[in-house]
Amino acid sequence: MIIVMLGAPGTGKGTVANLLKDKLKIPQVSTGDIFRKHIKEGTRLGKLVENYISNGNLVPDEVTNEIVESRLDDKDVEKGIILDGYPRTVNQAKELDKMLKKRNKKLNLVVNLTTPEEEIIERVVNRRVCSNQECKTVYNLVLDPPEKEGICNKCGHELVQRKDDNIETVKSRLDNYFKQTSPLIEYYEKQGNLYSTVVSKSINKLGKDVAKDIIDYLN
Ligand code: ADP
Ligand code: ZN
Repeated sequence: MIIVMLGAPGTGKGTVANLLKDKLKIPQVSTGDIFRKHIKEGTRLGKLVENYISNGNLVPDEVTNEIVESRLDDKDVEKGIILDGYPRTVNQAKELDKMLKKRNKKLNLVVNLTTPEEEIIERVVNRRVCSNQECKTVYNLVLDPPEKEGICNKCGHELVQRKDDNIETVKSRLDNYFKQTSPLIEYYEKQGNLYSTVVSKSINKLGKDVAKDIIDYLN
């Protein structure tokens, strides 16, 4: 099962992917998480991508494509993968199609999440994530706060705020999303594997509800 999570920042891609990963027992691969890990560890790749990310710009396609392609050959993704945050440009989507074709695999589902823009900004600035790489549960101080302040309910590790989760950066991330990523909706609509849904507190539908809907849809 190969799933792609599509959506602007703050729509809940990570949250939904994290829940789907538990239910479907296939790994969630977030290009954003991979980059952040490299930045934290100060690797060559980390140094290369740091400025793009802190300015809210996309990392160049060649760099991103290469990382994803090598991840596709890891043993743990044999049965499937949830790509969270990749592809993000038409060029990346075309590359992904080639990578899968080469491996005799095909994309089963593209989940497209949309959220009203004012909600996105509120969500991103109130987002906290579990610092435990094995857990990575996402919280929201307003919508879905942890039971104990600053501590993950699931694993007890510290919650942290991403550096790029501030108002200025989120605005450029949103701009880039509309310019570079949103054309993918049409791209996948044509391929016929798009599942679009709204995530919004105004209709009482948050990430966990969407994850349930997707599981029902797949069954
Ligand atoms: P969000 O969707 O909330 O912006 P991500 O964790 O998916 O967060 O991505 C964080 C940042 O990492 C992006 O703003 C971008 O700079 C970089 N990034 C992640 N995935 C990609 C990708 N597929 N192509 C280019 N840049 C990416
Ligand atoms: Zn945790």
